[in-house]
This record gives sequence, C-alpha cells and structure tokens, in this order.
Amino acid sequence: MKNVLTGLFSLLILHAPVHVWASPTWGVTGHRVVGLVAQNHLKKKAKRKISTVLQCNSLAEVSNWMDDVKSDTAYNHTHDWHWVTILAGETYETSKKNPKGDIIMKIEELTATLKAGGLSAAKEEEALKFLVHLVGDLHQPLHVGDRDNQGGNQVKVTWFGQNSNLHRVWDSDMIEGKQLSYSDLAGFLDEPSREQVKQWQQLSTREWAAVSQSHFPKIYDFPENGKLGYRYSYDHFGTVQTCLMQAGIHLAGLLNEIYG
Ligand SMILES: [Zn+2]
Repeated sequence: MKNVLTGLFSLLILHAPVHVWASPTWGVTGHRVVGLVAQNHLKKKAKRKISTVLQCNSLAEVSNWMDDVKSDTAYNHTHDWHWVTILAGETYETSKKNPKGDIIMKIEELTATLKAGGLSAAKEEEALKFLVHLVGDLHQPLHVGDRDNQGGNQVKVTWFGQNSNLHRVWDSDMIEGKQLSYSDLAGFLDEPSREQVKQWQQLSTREWAAVSQSHFPKIYDFPENGKLGYRYSYDHFGTVQTCLMQAGIHLAGLLNEIYG
C-alpha cells in the first residue's frame, strides 16, 4: 500500500504545474496555542462579534477545523491553501503562482472578504475558520518553503530514533515532545511588550512570510545523519515559541482590524 501511495504521489508531483506537497500543519496543539494567544489579544468589540460568528466557539476550538475537513471531498479545493513555495532569490510577487491558490493569496483574500462583509452567517463562519488556521500555518516556517522539497516533507530525518521528516519535526514533533497542553504552552510563551505587539501587527502577510523564510539557515543546520532529538529541540524550541506567539499576535491584529 505504501508503495502504491508513494507511486501515486510521484505521479502527482510529475504532473503538477507547480510544487505540490501534501503537508500536515502545525500539529493540533500549535494551532490551539495560536488561537488562544489571539483570543487574549482581541479588542472587546471584536471578541464579541467573533463569538457570535463562531457560535460561541473560541478561536482555539476552531483552529484545526481546516485540517479536519481535508477528509471531506467538498473541501478538496482548499488543499493547497495551507502553504506556498517562494524559491530562494524570488519574492512572492515574482514567484510562479499556484493556480489552486496559496496561503498568502488566501489570507489576503479572506481578510478582504471578511472586511467587506455581507456574507451569510455560514459563509462568514467558514471564512473566519479558514483565516484562523491559515495565519497559524503561515508562521510555521516550513509552510513558506524556499526550495523544491515540499516544505521539508521530503527531508527525511529521525526524531528520537523514529522516522520523521523536517516538516513534521516543526509541525508537531518538537511541540508534542514537551508534553504540554495547549493552554500550558500558551502560558509559557514570553508576552511581548505593547510596543512589540504594535510593531508586529503592522507587518503585512507577505512580510510575515519573509520572516518565516528568514529562519531557514538555522532550521536546515543539522547533522548529515539526520538524527534529531534533544539537541535540535534545545536549539530550536525558542524559535517555535516565538513563531507561535507572533502568529497569535498577527491573527489578533487582523481580527481587530476586521471586527474592531
Ligand atoms: Zn494547515
């Protein structure tokens, strides 16, 4: 079965017009952390309106919905929205666009759509859930790939002796290794100053994509044997925490702009 799948996947790659990869996503914990951080930085008015749109669910609760619906064929058109590849030396503007959409395109579209308003309750709820998830993904650096390796999915490594890949290490292996609940992890993050929050919220989605890519020299710096574990986590968990906090602050900024 595995070989069949691998074969199918290679076929898919060969015929894909642009770089295609079937990525997971920040693990469930990471997305919930981003949701909780954002929730804590919402203005009162935005918090009230969002609670109505989400039928009293919190941002953390809806943050993984976009991954859950991957198993529903009705959402096949959203599969490529979770990521983008901007090859080294290019910018988003000069890069070849995926006709099926990408994470930057969709965050920008969804923000504009929600700002414009006039959506049915169901459509608004759906758009908001997409946005919550995608802003989270944008801050997992490997969702903004800079080389042709499916955002690190093709970089095979081991994580404490178990087969994994670089993308997965950043999505979930490092986070799950801490064995913290999402609320504990959110509570452990360093709270930025008001000034810092303001500064981060002024950055555009495209600028945040560049921040994600700026982490690559360090992310790809590991032993050739690909054996990752304590040392890699020790070197990089700080970056994971910063990315999660920045994602939450960025998301809160967008939502305050839309609903404030
Ligand atoms: Zn995702």
